[in-house]
Amino acid sequence: MITRLAATAAAVLGLALGLVATAPAANAAARNGSCESGEFCLYYNSGATGSLVDLVHSQRDYGTGPGCITFVSAGNGRGQCVKNNTAAVWNRTGKQVYVFYNSDFGGVHDIIPAGAKVDLNANVKNDNASQIIGDASLRFPLNVSQATVKNQSPLTWCWNSRTNCHHDYNAADIFAPTGTAVVSPVAGTVMTVRPGSETAGATATVKDAFGRLWFFQHMDNDPGPVVHVGQHLTKGDRIGTVGTRAHAMGTQPHLHLDMRVGVDERVSCTGAACAGYGFVNNQPLLRTAFLQRP
Ligand SMILES: [Zn+2]
Repeated sequence: MITRLAATAAAVLGLALGLVATAPAANAAARNGSCESGEFCLYYNSGATGSLVDLVHSQRDYGTGPGCITFVSAGNGRGQCVKNNTAAVWNRTGKQVYVFYNSDFGGVHDIIPAGAKVDLNANVKNDNASQIIGDASLRFPLNVSQATVKNQSPLTWCWNSRTNCHHDYNAADIFAPTGTAVVSPVAGTVMTVRPGSETAGATATVKDAFGRLWFFQHMDNDPGPVVHVGQHLTKGDRIGTVGTRAHAMGTQPHLHLDMRVGVDERVSCTGAACAGYGFVNNQPLLRTAFLQRP
């Protein structure tokens, strides 16, 4: 009886969340337990069996506890939270879907092609926290070859403090020669452009359709950024330049890149003070983008 009440309460909360969301795809009634055209469906058991929930939107966090997204159809796992609990999926959205290990679209991920009905790969099977319906991939944010980055010295590309960056949160420092073009890793809108200082260089932020706010720091301020606030960028559009004013903390010129979800402005923090603000691990997406460079 207790279990049944809990499941009912979760279902009601699920409906309430559904009302808040924007309009679903045509003919797809989300979270009715039927996997329809236009939906991305999560299954409790492998082989797309057991209870399912049918979703039509990207989710930055499936949630835990009361209010979490639950499996809703009859079958094994009904009423349980889908977060860290999904074994298989059926992608009927007509688009790619990215399933991430971390909330806010971070960490390792599995890419589910349109039409696929598959078990999640081992990286995220029963370890799923968020999803993007659509193309979440990045364009590498510098116009450099792989060899150019690898040949930088003494630093090449570091990711958070474990790999010798000067900061203690999720952020990339990618070292590159003066004059290297900084380009947008995503399609999005320019939110801020700041000319910067001799030590921090110029900065800019770009927000994409999934709510990811990308922050570019230590760009040259002479020549400065070539974008303006409100400008729409496509992947690969130039933002600015790595330059001699882009030195940071005594290191050689580099681009600093970090990302958070659900904000319009980059929080004002540096170094260890940025810990706890929810900066997201983009390293797996960045690495894939890097490997696509010549
Ligand atoms: Zn940095």
